[in-house]
Amino acid sequence: QELIRKLEETIENVPDFPIPGIQFKDISPIFLDPKLYEDVIADLVAFSKGKVDAVCGIESRGYLFGIAIAVALEVPFILIRKSGKLPPPVISEKYDLEYGSAVIETREGQIKPGQKVLIHDDLLATGGTTEAAAKLVEKQGAIVSQFSFLIGLKDLKGEEKLEKFNAEVYHILK
Ligand code: 5GP
Repeated sequence: QELIRKLEETIENVPDFPIPGIQFKDISPIFLDPKLYEDVIADLVAFSKGKVDAVCGIESRGYLFGIAIAVALEVPFILIRKSGKLPPPVISEKYDLEYGSAVIETREGQIKPGQKVLIHDDLLATGGTTEAAAKLVEKQGAIVSQFSFLIGLKDLKGEEKLEKFNAEVYHILK
């Protein structure tokens, strides 16, 4: 609809960034247009309204929308960060990258057992980051009930990695 059209013309496709062969989606022009930003948040809030007890945002672009979603839903927002950024005590989850591996963390105790959690990020590509975030949430006894993204890149099969969590998946754009 209108929101999809507006986002498609606003998000910039940058070829060969950060490495040759990759087409990078730059979402930063969204923040030049406060009305568009508001409409994006309203759309993501509508997906999660009444369905979650907490929102987890993935560093760093997941914060730009995640915290606004959490505030609108009147639920806690929890930061999921790359390792070494959050002070102890933290809970960690290691995951594989194309080359090597990475670790993400949250502060221990911020996600409560039994909470229904939305995991939000700007973009779903291979799904590796989001899958690790979901495992981190489950490690703390919480339930991953929703995933949301601005963009879900279809050809990278990220959604297949999320199937095992039996959660709702939503993205505004493909
Ligand atoms: P995945 O783990 O699904 O392969 O990668 C998703 C993560 O990489 C997200 O945190 C996302 O922010 C980042 N990412 C990968 N490609 C892009 C891109 O083209 N544009 C933006 N904005 N983020 C990307």
